[in-house]
Amino acid sequence: MFAQSYGAVTFGLSGHIITVEVDISTHVPSFDIVGLPAAAVKESKERVRSAIKNSGYRFPVYRITVNLAPADLRKEGSGLDLPIAVGILAASGQLPEEAIQGCLFVGELSLRGELRPVPGILSMVLAGKEAGFRKYIMAPDAAQEALLAEGTEIYDPRTLAELVEGLLGRTPLVPAVRKEPAPAPEETNDLADVQGQLIAKRALEIAAAGAHNLLMTGPPGSGKTMLARRITTILPPMTDEEALEVTKIYSVAGLFKTERILRDRPFRSPHHTISMAGLIGGGTVPRPGEVTLAHRGVLFLDELPEFPRSVLEVLRQPLEDRVVRIARANAAFTYPADFILIAAMNPCPCGYLGDPDHECTCTDGEIQRYRRKISGPLLDRIDLHVSVSRPKYSELTASVRGESSADVADRVAGARRLQQERLAPWHMHTNSEMSRRQMQETCPLDREGNSLLRQVFETLHLSARSYDRIIKVARTIADLAGTPAITAEHIAEAVSLRNMISRK
Ligand SMILES: [Zn+2]
Repeated sequence: MFAQSYGAVTFGLSGHIITVEVDISTHVPSFDIVGLPAAAVKESKERVRSAIKNSGYRFPVYRITVNLAPADLRKEGSGLDLPIAVGILAASGQLPEEAIQGCLFVGELSLRGELRPVPGILSMVLAGKEAGFRKYIMAPDAAQEALLAEGTEIYDPRTLAELVEGLLGRTPLVPAVRKEPAPAPEETNDLADVQGQLIAKRALEIAAAGAHNLLMTGPPGSGKTMLARRITTILPPMTDEEALEVTKIYSVAGLFKTERILRDRPFRSPHHTISMAGLIGGGTVPRPGEVTLAHRGVLFLDELPEFPRSVLEVLRQPLEDRVVRIARANAAFTYPADFILIAAMNPCPCGYLGDPDHECTCTDGEIQRYRRKISGPLLDRIDLHVSVSRPKYSELTASVRGESSADVADRVAGARRLQQERLAPWHMHTNSEMSRRQMQETCPLDREGNSLLRQVFETLHLSARSYDRIIKVARTIADLAGTPAITAEHIAEAVSLRNMISRK
């Protein structure tokens, strides 16, 4: 006896349809799953057996072979429980095969036969739509996420028994309906809340406008975290395409919580004790790491030198390529990782170097060791370096509010539009993405700009990479001003925002 059902898995961020073939033959009783199942899928045998029995159906005491096709794709996770159970019920004649045609089944089963949600539902349903499936069956907790893929018929029975009774037409299943999402919490952070800090705020604006990475150095209490958090209030809103992409990432990571497509740009701030897999992605059951959860948004690393150097070094590749490559035993895939890096650090281990009110107790050796924890190549990938000092008493008590996030966001949006138009021939969006070729074609320096840059280059002994970074930042500064050519003023500001921490 043979039957076929359909399930889905995710690989990287994309969903893949899996054909579940079930063959039951009269041999010595056994239960085998073949077709490159990972450990969690092998465990599915025990869950499926118990779920079928405890739902009041017969688990066939014959030789059962389940084949998962295509065989070359490694199947991870527990979402194939449901199509395997349905396939066994069909192959053993307890469910007519016509009843499961055109249906895609996704879900884990509890031993009692309850349906449980699995990560990556949105990607799987989108893959199902592409393959022409009409009906989708999953756990109640997964339905709202699945309904984000419009034009689908979603059913969300609580138990296997409820599903089977529905498929048999005894108690018809009712399609899930979209719940009105709770209103988005009002954004309460605003740049205007930050008193003083004009240079740091300007650096944030430039970082947001050109998608440049930023390092803030300053003593504890200088407001580095408060500043960093406000960058999302000045970044342009995500496009529909970006929002769907980010939602898929959170779905695959099992972090999808709301009923709406994620609209706010991500802001991730992992602690320095994070593991390599936590930051970059991977693990036994591969999951996106923080660099991918920050995709289209911001990755904030506070206390940068406290991160293990090995963890920081692996950041170089995604910072350069804007994707991370995850290597598996028999496959490799990429996750997107296009984020703005904002890093913060103290000037020295005690934090008070250069502070007029506190004495620094560190030795020169300690300061050097502390700063050397951040490698030159990583530092080289950070376009903007600024010092942040603790606000003065007069700044804290000033009654004048600074510029609001909305006003700064307008300038950022204007600068982004200019970049998008100019870089469209190369399918780039922001100045930070430019390579030499685009810089040569789109970054004209006026005469004074040129001579100032030559002077700076010769006196500061800049590396070629630093030279490029200064031009890119100057290009963004000119875009914020709406000026086609880069002037000496723009170059001067870009140089001042590359106040590289001493490496000697
Ligand atoms: Zn110190």
